[in-house]
Amino acid sequence: MPGLEDKIKTIIAEKGPVSVETFMGMAVTHYYATHDPFGAAGDFTTAPEISQMFGEMIGVWAADQWQKMEVPNKFLLIEAGPGRGTLMADLLRATKNVRGFHDAAQIVMTETSPALREKQKTALGAFRVRWAESIQDKSIQDCGCPVIFIANEFLDALPVRQFAFKGGAWHERMVGVDEKDALVFVPGDACMNGPGREGDIREVSPARENFVTQLCRIIKRNGGAALLIDYGYEGPGSGDTLQAVRKHKYTGVFEDVGTADLTAHVDFGVLRATVKQSGLDVGLEDQGAFLQRMGIGLRAEKLRVSATPQQRLDMDAALKRLTSSQEMGRLFKVMEIKSGGAD
Ligand code: SAH
Repeated sequence: MPGLEDKIKTIIAEKGPVSVETFMGMAVTHYYATHDPFGAAGDFTTAPEISQMFGEMIGVWAADQWQKMEVPNKFLLIEAGPGRGTLMADLLRATKNVRGFHDAAQIVMTETSPALREKQKTALGAFRVRWAESIQDKSIQDCGCPVIFIANEFLDALPVRQFAFKGGAWHERMVGVDEKDALVFVPGDACMNGPGREGDIREVSPARENFVTQLCRIIKRNGGAALLIDYGYEGPGSGDTLQAVRKHKYTGVFEDVGTADLTAHVDFGVLRATVKQSGLDVGLEDQGAFLQRMGIGLRAEKLRVSATPQQRLDMDAALKRLTSSQEMGRLFKVMEIKSGGAD
């Protein structure tokens, strides 16, 4: 949308180039506030939108955590960045026969986009849901009961800072304006010396590290467990992963700013260390392995029984897409955080 690009250019004209972090933060916030990005008609498709089985398996995990906590009669079931609310709806359907789980669950969603809050409200019509701006909300921090926290494709939308190696030193990568009035990357001040190779790019995400630190603090204070699922890798850094996707195709990050989904891959190696520093237990596995462990194979078998031939084909394709190591099964990682001794 030209509105946002002009706004960024005004800031650059007044104060000079902005960091990739500032740029990405503004673009992502604008994008989610003005778009429903999901599904075939949107820009991209997430796992819960591929198959109901995804949210159901998260439900299996959540019910298992609740049982391991010895079935507290009140807990917060928190989801960050719930998109259309599909995952939570599938999770709740899958747990409706877990006796006491729904009565104990207080559902809280953190969502910044008013448009998406409306969608979530529709998807979860039958349930009592509370919305919060972020997990920093006092009602979450001091909830006084255990939390079960989930987030799918949330961390990849939190901004990254980038550094580029140029002329023997690392420079923060900034966004400026060229002589044709187009947004371009420009090197900022040199901030560290080597080692590096000309043209190397590194990413760090203080926003993600802060988020995980906050989450760990909540779990330490109140007890509980968290599941963070995202497109990612386990360090060392994999270069420039900032990418824009519109209508299921890659596009330039400066093309029609604020109208494409902007993400960067998650460095789970760094986040694993963040959790360890907080003194909590952490596990990391491929999405495919996690879904198999939760029983997605058996669930698919069961759904197949009452499915039409076409539905079976669709289901097989969805199962492959979610679990295969050539597809989301390996590209996506699942990080599990638990208060020590929960197992
Ligand atoms: N979990 C959903 C949606 C993923 S898209 C799914 O799997 O389909 C990312 C979600 O995070 C959106 O709901 C978006 O509005 C939300 N989001 C993005 N940046 C955010 C931020 N800084 N704070 C809170 N929510 C954010």
